[in-house]
Amino acid sequence: MDGKTGKTRYFAYSDYLKQKYGERVYKLPVNLPITCPNRDGECGKDGCIFCGDVGAAFENLPSSLSVKEQIRRNAEYIGKKYKAKKFIAYFQNFTNTYMPIEDFKRVISEAAKENIVEIAVSTRPDCISDEYLEVLNDIKNEYNVEISVEIGLQTVNYKTLEKINRGHTLAEFTDAVLRVKKYGFDTCAHLILNLPWDDKTDVIENAKMLSALGVKQVKVHCLYIVKNTKMAKMYQNAEFEMGSYFDYADKVITFLEYLSPEIVIQRLIGRAKEEHTLFANYSTSWWKIKDSIDAQMEYLDTYQGRKCDYLNGKCVRKFLT
Ligand code: SF4
Repeated sequence: MDGKTGKTRYFAYSDYLKQKYGERVYKLPVNLPITCPNRDGECGKDGCIFCGDVGAAFENLPSSLSVKEQIRRNAEYIGKKYKAKKFIAYFQNFTNTYMPIEDFKRVISEAAKENIVEIAVSTRPDCISDEYLEVLNDIKNEYNVEISVEIGLQTVNYKTLEKINRGHTLAEFTDAVLRVKKYGFDTCAHLILNLPWDDKTDVIENAKMLSALGVKQVKVHCLYIVKNTKMAKMYQNAEFEMGSYFDYADKVITFLEYLSPEIVIQRLIGRAKEEHTLFANYSTSWWKIKDSIDAQMEYLDTYQGRKCDYLNGKCVRKFLT
């Protein structure tokens, strides 16, 4: 990938999927009736301070439907809409490895059928163990599907992680990435680039840490303020301010500049329903923000990896030339 040419100045997920599968591939969300150890008392009761009752996704079908049925309905709808033939079964909401291992095996196997080329499992860093990865590896071999594991981090700043009540630190994330990589599965890290307690130094360290760990993909979000959360109360009490759109765009561009050009960008901005939030994406549609960041990168003539010169012994490089 050359970040300086082409339609975008970063390694877009759609390009990666086309390279990998030879055609457009679409995600089918699968919603399981599960929770999260940061909500049920295992490691915390209140959850992350920004997390709403509906979890991360609002586009899902009801979790009372079987995995098979959710995939069938979503494949029919998305297949027709985009003329798609290959799909990724995406277990997104809450913590999709937080269940007895036999249940995990059953639900993941149920997704590995016909036109599913990949299974993507979203989870927390402290819910990844060798035993669960072994299950995924068996499914990969038995059904000939690719596996990717999406791991929530939000920020590498362990003091901010404490403030947002994540219930884990950077160490668990590092451990999880290294374990997933041993199996050759793609890893995807989830970050919120504009947490109020993080500054630009943290944004740069996010990029450097993911690059050093060799994470394969990244999903970047702008913070939403979801109604009825602890963060919503703090926002209403003016305990912090949301920066401007320009501040967010600047953070995203800085992040991309320091990020390895090998890392695939799944998204630069998320989506949230207005009725669930007090603040979401500066009341602007996600694609307008994305287009504006793309245009700004073009204007600045910058690209992903432009400042990624810090790995592999920067200071001894002069002795090797
Ligand atoms: S880990 Fe995810 S599901 Fe659990 S409380 Fe935090 S954001 Fe919500």
